[in-house]
Amino acid sequence: MKAMLHACIISTGTELLLGSTIDSNCNFLSQKLCDLGVRVIARFTVGDNREQISNAFNNALKLADLVICSGGLGPTLDDLTKEIACEVAGCQMELVEEEVKHLQEYFARRKRKMPEANLKQALFPPEAIILKNSKGTAPGMYLKKDGKVLVLLPGPPREMQAIYLQEVEALLERDFCLDDKQSASCTIKVMGPGESQVDEMLMDIINEPRGCSLALLAQDGEVHIKLTAEGENAEHSKQILREISRRIENNMDRYVFGHDEESLSGVVAKLLVNTGKRLAVAESCSGGLLAQMITELPGSSRYFWGSVTSYSNDAKVKLLGVKEETLASYGAVSPETAEEMARGILRKSGCDFSLAITGIAGPDGGTKEKPVGLVYIALAAKEDCIVKEMHFAGAREGIRILSAKTALDMLRRQLQYGGI
Ligand code: AMP
Ligand code: MG
Repeated sequence: MKAMLHACIISTGTELLLGSTIDSNCNFLSQKLCDLGVRVIARFTVGDNREQISNAFNNALKLADLVICSGGLGPTLDDLTKEIACEVAGCQMELVEEEVKHLQEYFARRKRKMPEANLKQALFPPEAIILKNSKGTAPGMYLKKDGKVLVLLPGPPREMQAIYLQEVEALLERDFCLDDKQSASCTIKVMGPGESQVDEMLMDIINEPRGCSLALLAQDGEVHIKLTAEGENAEHSKQILREISRRIENNMDRYVFGHDEESLSGVVAKLLVNTGKRLAVAESCSGGLLAQMITELPGSSRYFWGSVTSYSNDAKVKLLGVKEETLASYGAVSPETAEEMARGILRKSGCDFSLAITGIAGPDGGTKEKPVGLVYIALAAKEDCIVKEMHFAGAREGIRILSAKTALDMLRRQLQYGGI
């Protein structure tokens, strides 16, 4: 059995340590390497400091055969990465004429004089492959030395991603024979139970290692179950994956809404298109977020009638036909109002389904009886209407997102199983 390639990722930049920039490069590289069947075993984040960067390279090269670093390839004094990486790898840098020409052309096209400092971006060791940067001035570098591979990429995410996708991926596949991938992975996405509940529901599977690792990722009410199988060969890995996936899907049953790249709104869209049904929406505390989630998909006009953001009581009465007595007796945040909102928009639109959301997103407006996070979500279809009472934890933005997603999930279950 071929051993899985291990990698370390290094992010350089003092702004990352200060928390002013989120280290998105690291996430991107982790995901891409995982897709290639490479195991990321450690990530280092260091400031723009000679000693810290040098330590990170030394440690990473001890741990793994592949080291990918982003940041610090610019022209300024604090851009030290390439110089230090070459020192650690024992390579000498030389001025590469062709790169000097590229830089001069880059500045000439922009009618700017090239600062002298930029010349250091044209310094490379002769044994390195220079990685063309189609989105900026700093080229990346790919160095094979003593059986290890060291990759340097610029910090700006757009540039880093472009170079990785256009240059690095193919080089890694070639040098490490990654195209005959031995591992297999997939993601099962569930909506409804929280991370610890999913953990509990999968306890027997998690505790029984069978050449398959399982990682949970909670995100805006969804839990993603990422499975990676490592068998004797690709077919064996896929077989392990199929078996474990089947068991997980059995356990999670109706909570499973999709796989891999699928999104909840995408799945609902597909179900609506396939059944030829149309949807209308009435929103209070989510303020249009549900409509936004639906319409961010191209082609949504086929199944989406539109939405009314009825934030005030007056709007609920005038635009949706919610009765004044209902609001007076039960309040705007009540199952009765949610139901009248859903029935009102269904009647006005003539759609097959409607969803309505009313709740308290906070931080103010909560009471003992009706605390922040209390949300009623109604799903109406012809004569029927179901109202769900939810108690979401968290801050305002999170409550709004969970409200919209739970509404989508109610419709998903209705369309998939004929009941929520
Ligand atoms: P550098 O190549 O180090 O000069 O980085 C240029 C800019 O890229 C920084 O100011 C950041 O805004 C951004 N950047 C650098 N590293 C990262 C990272 N790991 N994740 C996201 N953005 C980054
Ligand atoms: Mg930097």
